[in-house]
Amino acid sequence: MSKSILILPGDGIGQEVTTSMVEVLNFLIEKYCLDFVVNTMSVGGTAYNEYGTPLPIKVLEKAKESDAILFGAVGGTEWDHLDWDDRPENALLSLRKELNLFANLRPAFLFNELSEASPLKKEIINDLDILIVRELTGGIYFGEPRGIISNESPKYAFNTMIYNEDEIRRIAKVAFESAQKRNGRLCSVEKANVLEVSKFWRSILTEISKDYPDVELSHQLADNAAMQLVLDPNQFDVIVASNLFGDILSDIAATLTGSIGMLPSASLDSSLKGMYEPCHGSAPDIAGQDLANPIAMIASLSMALKYSLGQEHVSDKIDMAISSFIKKGYRTKDIAIDENYLKTSEVANKLITTIENE
Ligand code: NAD
Repeated sequence: MSKSILILPGDGIGQEVTTSMVEVLNFLIEKYCLDFVVNTMSVGGTAYNEYGTPLPIKVLEKAKESDAILFGAVGGTEWDHLDWDDRPENALLSLRKELNLFANLRPAFLFNELSEASPLKKEIINDLDILIVRELTGGIYFGEPRGIISNESPKYAFNTMIYNEDEIRRIAKVAFESAQKRNGRLCSVEKANVLEVSKFWRSILTEISKDYPDVELSHQLADNAAMQLVLDPNQFDVIVASNLFGDILSDIAATLTGSIGMLPSASLDSSLKGMYEPCHGSAPDIAGQDLANPIAMIASLSMALKYSLGQEHVSDKIDMAISSFIKKGYRTKDIAIDENYLKTSEVANKLITTIENE
């Protein structure tokens, strides 16, 4: 049965990196006779300009029907004055919520050839290969009640950190299974020393670990984990964390690699349908200049092929081509050490040639 892909380029460099990704996708469809139905629609500021909303109903409906969504990036100064409901970024959060994409997978890896770009010393950062599994639809970002009380003295504000056991179990399952496919080590991060939610989280992770005897489970407090990510990142294989702690840790891990243009991400539902996007935003400062690094977007396609489209071997071809691209010394501007770099529009062709000549 054919698989359906929805492409949402979005705004700014989202458009440019998506064009490169589509070149690779079209090549793979032809070379490996992939039975995919591909649709492309507007989202974010671009959709707002066309339809008066950043997430038109027909886009949301198509997203719900699709096996994989490839999302570029949204946002830009042109739309910064709008109310939150109309802001491009709202489309992203609504898609995650509406599609119940509760599991955010954020790999942070470093090609040793790019270790100069990292803020850490080579001997600490070399061979970095971590997967952060972040809970994405619950916790304090969505917990009720929440609010700002301005008519009392003193004024105050509050949020609610809440997880039920089903929410913890489903993200734990994704994390344990991811660790099984990697090096078998899972570190659960919380604040069990001060938060009841975290004590509860830790007890459920510990209980579930009995079903995964091949995975070594450890626990770290979030403040220590943030420190350890900088001091000794290679101690980690898979990290699982709630929405809040995962947000912070995944950005630290991304920064360690020194190149936001290289990192993909996946957000999955319980049937492994998902949305795939680069970790970066729409980069208005370089948009329209053919300077963006499209590798994070192309690596997002690779994750889609692996998790949602049942084409792990084709995904491996992309990963191999990206690795070969870096080893051969090709660079885009963000990772270049001199003025000798490729334009966005030149990258896909190099990757395609590598796969063709394999
Ligand atoms: P950003 O990620 O867009 O840019 C941060 C810096 O990294 C910029 O200097 C940019 O030029 C550079 N950069 C980012 N991606 C790059 C790439 N592929 N190649 C080369 N350089 C790259 O973050 P920002 O500047 O904080 O946000 C810009 C806009 O993007 C805002 O409107 C923000 O709301 C939005 N945003 C969207 C998403 C998303 O769609 N998922 C994520 C973050 C930010």
